[in-house]
Amino acid sequence: MTVLPSTQTLGLLGDLIGFDTVSAKSNRALIDYVAAYLKGHGIGAEIVPSHDGTKASLWATIGPEIDGGIVLSGHSDVVPVDGQDWSSNPFLMDIRDGRAYGRGVADMKGFVACVLAAAPSLSRLPLKRPVHIALTYDEEVGCIGAPHLLKWLRNQPYKPAIAFIGEPTLMRVVNAHKGIMAARTEITGCEAHSSLAHQGVSAIGLAAQAIGILQTLEAERAAVHADPRFEPSRATISVNLIGGGTAINILAGQAWFEWDIRSIPAVDAHELRTEFERRLERDVMAPARAKFGNVDAHTRVWADAPALKPEDDGAAEALAKRILRTNEVFAVPYAAEAGQFQQAGLSTVIIGPGSIEQAHKVDEFIELSQLAACEAFLQGLIVELVV
Ligand SMILES: [Zn+2]
Repeated sequence: MTVLPSTQTLGLLGDLIGFDTVSAKSNRALIDYVAAYLKGHGIGAEIVPSHDGTKASLWATIGPEIDGGIVLSGHSDVVPVDGQDWSSNPFLMDIRDGRAYGRGVADMKGFVACVLAAAPSLSRLPLKRPVHIALTYDEEVGCIGAPHLLKWLRNQPYKPAIAFIGEPTLMRVVNAHKGIMAARTEITGCEAHSSLAHQGVSAIGLAAQAIGILQTLEAERAAVHADPRFEPSRATISVNLIGGGTAINILAGQAWFEWDIRSIPAVDAHELRTEFERRLERDVMAPARAKFGNVDAHTRVWADAPALKPEDDGAAEALAKRILRTNEVFAVPYAAEAGQFQQAGLSTVIIGPGSIEQAHKVDEFIELSQLAACEAFLQGLIVELVV
């Protein structure tokens, strides 16, 4: 018999799904809803607005305001449904066949609903250490929201010790994920009529050489560093958007491309970026500039989330394993906010209900039994916090 989640969890999940929090839109209505819900149960929540105020993170503390707390963190944004032919309204949760359907049920409002459902009972218990609820924004567009909340956290009078990030892992303990760095490189060439090609240099030609450097770097690192926990096991560099030029008979004055590094823990994306810029300048730009003046390249990083590294004797991993009575740990190839929490000094693992297989897809669903398993995990956590 399938174990079902509580009506509280399902009700909260339905409400959360009802907020269209696609990353391009504001998440303020959802954040206000969660703050009001917590307040209704006597739990104070801080709303931490983004720089432009259109979005916000939320931070709530249950229990004493002391060091050593446990953070339960989820992102509030979801990916778009454009071009997907859903069987039901993606922003109106539908329960059928033992599953809940809706955009974000797995990634990752299911986890958030379970945490919120547990909050009232948590707040009535004499906790030895605090539980913090964190909601972030803009995770789905390169984990660019969490750093703002983590910076705010640095100025709080207490220091949490552990973070559980509730991305869908089928409630398995994940202690490693790849990092992501996303960058845009803009190149200035020297325009000339293409019949007089000796008088200039095409920015697109320079961009092609720059991309060649990225491919070389990827191959060099792959020859030295492989991490069999991931598929693919190497750090990858992909160029996925490109543009430039004005006409077929003019050497391109401008070109640009956008690329990402999906790093494994052993490969430092910052070091790769620095080495790319060094070789590009030395081998391509400096020689071209010597001939044609203004030639230049500029790279801007717009998303930067480090890999989650397995910790030696990590407190988060140990606690999660103890609650689940397991020794198994897993790695995931996707990027998440866990590496950012770890970099901020918190012992961190990912653990959450549902499968990443269903995330981002048409008819995203979560098995109801997964929500129940997450509830059981949180009950186990409560036991650890009270005794
Ligand atoms: Zn997610």
